[in-house]
Amino acid sequence: MQKLTRISDRLYYLPPVQETDRPILGAVIGAEKTILIDAGNSSQHANLFLQQLKEIGVQPDLLALTHWHWDHVFGLREIPVPSISCKETYGKIKEMQPLSWEDEHLDRRVEEGTEIPFCADAIKLEFGNKRDIQVQLPTIVFENRMTVHLGGLTCEIEHVGGDHSSDSCVIFIPEEKALFVGDCLYANLYAEKWNYTVEKTLKLIQQLEKYDAEIFFLSHHPAPLNKEAFHSLLQLLKNAALLTEKHEGDENAIQREMAANLQRDLNEEELETIGFLVNGW
Ligand SMILES: [Zn+2]
Repeated sequence: MQKLTRISDRLYYLPPVQETDRPILGAVIGAEKTILIDAGNSSQHANLFLQQLKEIGVQPDLLALTHWHWDHVFGLREIPVPSISCKETYGKIKEMQPLSWEDEHLDRRVEEGTEIPFCADAIKLEFGNKRDIQVQLPTIVFENRMTVHLGGLTCEIEHVGGDHSSDSCVIFIPEEKALFVGDCLYANLYAEKWNYTVEKTLKLIQQLEKYDAEIFFLSHHPAPLNKEAFHSLLQLLKNAALLTEKHEGDENAIQREMAANLQRDLNEEELETIGFLVNGW
């Protein structure tokens, strides 16, 4: 069972669950308003979060979505507050609304290639046979960025895009030096081979580097990253992207040069990152 975790009086999160693809959920608590970050992958997930917040006396006033993927939005209807997303996220959720999530239809979409086995399996596991899924639309939509004042605390929501999902947004809380990164740093999973492109990777890194944060929440990382860990992740992505460009997608040459630069064998994460960039070349 996931337990609400306190970073400070103004910042809490519910850790992710890998098996059912539950992402991190955040609560940012200002003197006047509280905003939640992401709605969870099911009614159960959303209610678990609301219940644990209630136990510490916190009631949400608003909710912000990082992107449209099912695991971040299916819990929306359980959270009766105005929800915020960028325009692209709104459009994607609207496209998803008429879909059926029963096994038969999920399996057909996997066969057609419009859904991926990874998500279909996690949906089956999260919901079991009770698939009462109604996807709700966000209520407040912005184009590129939006600021929400919570009373002594600010949420800066910015659309950053990236390979994982072009609608990805990050949420920065300057007073807490915290950045909710969502899934934007993960690869594009809706492709035959999971991949990153050099262009989008480098652009995204440039956008993320400007945030002066100390704590970074990646939606499917078990715990938040500190500044050093986050910047070494960005550095790895950047190096791998630049080497992919230099060696024109030649995986062996990229691996050789990165290992030579680091003066050691590459670890699994490094090999995987290079592999995804080669897939996207
Ligand atoms: Zn995602």
